[in-house]
Amino acid sequence: MSFEGFPVEVSPIYEGERIRKEDMYVEFGGTAVPHKFELVLAALMGEVEDGAVKVIGPDLTELKEGGSYPLGILIKVAGAKIEKDLEPVIERRIHLYTNYIEGVMHLNQRYDIWIRISKKSFKKGLTSLKWWGLALIKLFKAELPFIEKMEVSFITDPEKVKEWYQKALEIYNARDARARAIRDEDVDTFYGCVLCQSFAPQHVCVIAPNRVSLCGALNWFDARAAANVDPKGPNFPIPKGKCLDPIKGEYEGVNEVVAKRSLGAVKRVFLYSMFDYPHTSCGCFECIAFYIPEVDGIGFVHRGFRGPTVNGLPFSTMAAQTGGGIQTTGFLGVGIEYFRSPKFFQADGGWARVVWMPSELKERVKDAIPPELYDKIATEKEAKSIDELKNFLVERNHPLAAKIKEIEAAVAPPEERPPTAVPTAVGVEITGIPVSAVPTAAGGVKIVLQGAKITIKKLIIKRAEKIEQRAPRSS
Ligand code: SF4
Repeated sequence: MSFEGFPVEVSPIYEGERIRKEDMYVEFGGTAVPHKFELVLAALMGEVEDGAVKVIGPDLTELKEGGSYPLGILIKVAGAKIEKDLEPVIERRIHLYTNYIEGVMHLNQRYDIWIRISKKSFKKGLTSLKWWGLALIKLFKAELPFIEKMEVSFITDPEKVKEWYQKALEIYNARDARARAIRDEDVDTFYGCVLCQSFAPQHVCVIAPNRVSLCGALNWFDARAAANVDPKGPNFPIPKGKCLDPIKGEYEGVNEVVAKRSLGAVKRVFLYSMFDYPHTSCGCFECIAFYIPEVDGIGFVHRGFRGPTVNGLPFSTMAAQTGGGIQTTGFLGVGIEYFRSPKFFQADGGWARVVWMPSELKERVKDAIPPELYDKIATEKEAKSIDELKNFLVERNHPLAAKIKEIEAAVAPPEERPPTAVPTAVGVEITGIPVSAVPTAAGGVKIVLQGAKITIKKLIIKRAEKIEQRAPRSS
């Protein structure tokens, strides 16, 4: 495909390109900007001005360098084979194709987009959003030939973005509601997505009727439509195969396909649990579920929450620990619609295990929370620390209250503890957090030190009868 005349290159080699703050000309969306969205709408042939790119509001040259701005990307498509089902499928590809443009970084989806344009590409001539729109039209039409007509509008006028943002939220909600009528048991095929492997090479999304994609952009219907219309694309069918564990959500077919698509990196997946073999997480998740060992409960944080969570860590720190396509027991990226799933963490206790979430998220998923638990789940308003959380859960008689009292009783003050055994390692220095402890299926606790640097100055190896002491080798 030729992009002759374009000021910058357009190629898959730019996928995964990161643009740091100091290198950006401007950014759109992100956490500092409340209103942003991307939306694809199916239209009639006569309603689409094919090839048109409109900028509604200030264009790049009119924006102050270094600023963060609202943005709405509104794309109208038409074609004999275009159905409403395909809107989210096309919409999700905005992420992929935008990242082909040299010096343009696109993250996230729907109401949560974050785009940066680099200073370097701006200097090269990428001075109008029109170039971005023209690149999208060329790429979409080449890759998805059922799109016969396409028109792209970039809305940068803050008032107009705000107005369209509300409409977009209603459209996303209506799409999500459609998938609530079916259950995983009703189908014999799930669907997969590997669109995010450019960022997280081992990551495979498994999209089931009761498990929306973690980016929240594709439900089972959307993934099915995508796999049908573009069988060579990133979405594909996953025959469920034998159900190995209906509570944890382990399926023979899912394990086989995920192993193949992750090139052997992930061999088992539990769809309804965050422990042992959780679903992998790329980086696009709408929320993070995190285990809180001190209360044996599960906390959640969504991308838009800017403060520290109850464990002291903000979303960004936990995102680094959760993402990248690895299975991290006790940390899981999920889509917001998963809160409404009848399989919601069913292997881990479901809602009865949920102890904390930001108030904004709690309000958003209020309809999904069992009424008897609503007042027993803390937010940043009631609990800013683990101690405050413990008190809150006990006071409100949360289903975990008895367990918390047991945990507390088991942790006696230091002077009351029995003498400790001879330590097997001394002088251990740990640089880098977070440290987490999660329960394992085999019993006991697994300690996860992710991204930690450990220096051992002296190691004592204890045998049954004697202790041998030696300094570590330098390497
Ligand atoms: S998060 Fe999953 S479903 Fe969403 S685009 Fe990435 S791989 Fe596909």
